Amino acid sequence: MRPSRSQYPDIRLDSFSLLHDELQKSIRGGRLSLGEGVQNSPMTAVARVFVITGPSGVGKGTLIRGLMERLPALELSVSATTRAARPGERDGVDYHFLGSEEFARRIERGDFVEHADYAGRRYGTLRSELDARVGAGVPVVLEIEVQGARQVRAAMPEALQVFIAPPSLDALRTRLIGRGTDDHDEVERRLRVAEHELQAQPEFAHVVVNDRLEDALERLTAIVAGELD
Ligand code: ADP
Ligand code: 5GP
Repeated sequence: MRPSRSQYPDIRLDSFSLLHDELQKSIRGGRLSLGEGVQNSPMTAVARVFVITGPSGVGKGTLIRGLMERLPALELSVSATTRAARPGERDGVDYHFLGSEEFARRIERGDFVEHADYAGRRYGTLRSELDARVGAGVPVVLEIEVQGARQVRAAMPEALQVFIAPPSLDALRTRLIGRGTDDHDEVERRLRVAEHELQAQPEFAHVVVNDRLEDALERLTAIVAGELD
């Protein structure tokens, strides 16, 4: 089920008559707004959602770790997935690891803001990961693949999206192999998906090429910091 604006009625820019002008300007500037409950406490009523997307192995996770060190106000949304935990990954910390039936049941219940099939597994962002943080005015980072980024764009056009691109497909392959988390077949599967994902670049206003890590981190930090007060 693809999320729509009507499934996310909280995110509206037209229902904020109670907010004073300054805050209205902030909201039009791209911050997310919330439902009625928070209209009475406008100073906590807005927060940003940042979508970091791009092919597997490009360095999204690495960049986000650096970004969160530099901008500690940010919190990371913990995704749900049906893939098995890698060694060292913890349930509820790295992912919410769900069985296929549980994942499908939660789709039916409307628990996901977005979800996608990727390399034979399912991944998705739970509404519960966003609602409380946006409600509390906490800026949230989503690390998701391209289909999910498109769904978020449709449901929350205010969210800021950044596409992380590799310097080349060869570099991507080297990184996927070097990470050591995926066997040969899985690396090839991810590279095939990556070729399609890379074609989506023009859809994104912000593209950061992750060639030299420090340069990419600086650019990403500048983009995100520019949207935070
Ligand atoms: P993603 O989260 O996009 O799947 P990761 O952050 O796991 O990617 O990075 C994949 C691998 O590439 C990791 O081993 C990481 O250390 C490495 N890496 C990330 N950025 C760079 C870079 N700029 N140059 C070289 N290696 C990098
Ligand atoms: P991995 O298996 O390497 O952890 O993730 C595989 C891909 O799924 C990555 O590109 C990652 O960004 C993406 N992904 C992780 N969480 C989500 C999510 O909640 N939704 C979507 N659509 N993709 C996700």
